[in-house]
Amino acid sequence: MRAADLHIHTTASDGSLTPAEVVNQASLVNLNYISLTDHDTVNGLVSLPPAVYSAKRKVTVIPGIELSTDLNGREVHLLGYYIDINNRPLLSKLNELTQERIERMNGMIKRLVALGYNISWEQVARKAGSVIAFGRPHLARALIDNGYFSNINAVFETILAKDGPVYLPHRKLRPEQAILLIKGANGLPVLAHPGLIGNRKVMNRLIDSGIEGLEVYHPCHTKSEIADFLAMGRRHNLLITGGSDFHGLPGRFPAALGDFTVDEKLIGEFLNKNTMGFPDP
Ligand code: AMP
Ligand code: ZN
Ligand code: FE
Ligand code: FE
Repeated sequence: MRAADLHIHTTASDGSLTPAEVVNQASLVNLNYISLTDHDTVNGLVSLPPAVYSAKRKVTVIPGIELSTDLNGREVHLLGYYIDINNRPLLSKLNELTQERIERMNGMIKRLVALGYNISWEQVARKAGSVIAFGRPHLARALIDNGYFSNINAVFETILAKDGPVYLPHRKLRPEQAILLIKGANGLPVLAHPGLIGNRKVMNRLIDSGIEGLEVYHPCHTKSEIADFLAMGRRHNLLITGGSDFHGLPGRFPAALGDFTVDEKLIGEFLNKNTMGFPDP
């Protein structure tokens, strides 16, 4: 079986492995297709040598991104695959979003300090240079390092959840905007982890807005959800994708790359869309 993992975060956003480490590790655990899908940045992809994008390699890297969007107060994540990582309008919007994430992070650190936590910008950003898109998991990791919590869930439950005392929202695109941005960069917009939305009306609205794929296989989906999403995807002629949403955070599944994979046969139509045309090495 050839295996794929099309949803992976790196140190460019809130993952723990660098893009190069992800590619090396993918090879060691016999993954054949991976996609780096960092939140709001393509910097991880830009940092890799162009040869990794060749469809003829043992591990093929598919360029991707995960954009947070807001649909009437509901957070909806959209994945963009096969995007042109040099597309100007995309890069310029990502730049805005990541700048705002920095301001938001400063605000959340101020809130923590006001609550009596000993934490500084330097601690949160100690991987500075590689982190482009700051998110709550960076804060969680720093608080665990400082001994305040033992695992990621405890931090989120106690202070970082949406109704918690530290949470600040960050600006999100509307789903339609994100879809246009992805399509404008020659990418395929895919609805991420629909199980976290759990609302048919919302899913239908997103399908009407122009998504072209559904992330059917994801660690948060039950067997019956997978069957439902598969049927829904087929009914609406959507591409089927899947991935582990690997972050490498303590206490969050999957612990290691390769612990959750998708059989190539289940997502063959999606993989056939790989016409990136990157030069072969
Ligand atoms: P942000 O974009 O900064 O609001 O952070 C969202 C990120 O936090 C997402 O990548 C989620 O994977 C992660 N996240 C959200 N809730 C939790 C949770 N309860 N436990 C662990 N990670 C979480
Ligand atoms: Zn994340
Ligand atoms: Fe997500
Ligand atoms: Fe994700």
